[in-house]
Amino acid sequence: MEEKELEFFKGLLNNQMKELLNQAGCSVADMSEEAGTCCDPLDRASLEIDRTFTLRIRDRESRLIKKIKKALERIKDGTFCICERCGEKISMKRLKARPVATLCIECKTNEESIEKVIGT
Ligand SMILES: [Zn+2]
Repeated sequence: MEEKELEFFKGLLNNQMKELLNQAGCSVADMSEEAGTCCDPLDRASLEIDRTFTLRIRDRESRLIKKIKKALERIKDGTFCICERCGEKISMKRLKARPVATLCIECKTNEESIEKVIGT
């Protein structure tokens, strides 16, 4: 993949990460800490009520943030467009739609059909 294409995805991923962090505010700013440690103590009571909800959002967002970080690492070490499973190139179209993708469309489709079989 060309340098400027990598730069494009890097920008895309960084923006996505920023958006996630903004949306989540302090709840994701310090993911490993207990809820409330980075907020005003007066807000703790209401925070506790929202805790389950916050944790749920956190979980979803932290997972996505992890994926974004991983994708950024893949850009750095030059494996960004390479499928983790089969080593083939992931198509540009797929990466544009889903820059955090680590599998090519074929492997992803295979994985999903396996999941479906196990799930039922
Ligand atoms: Zn593949």
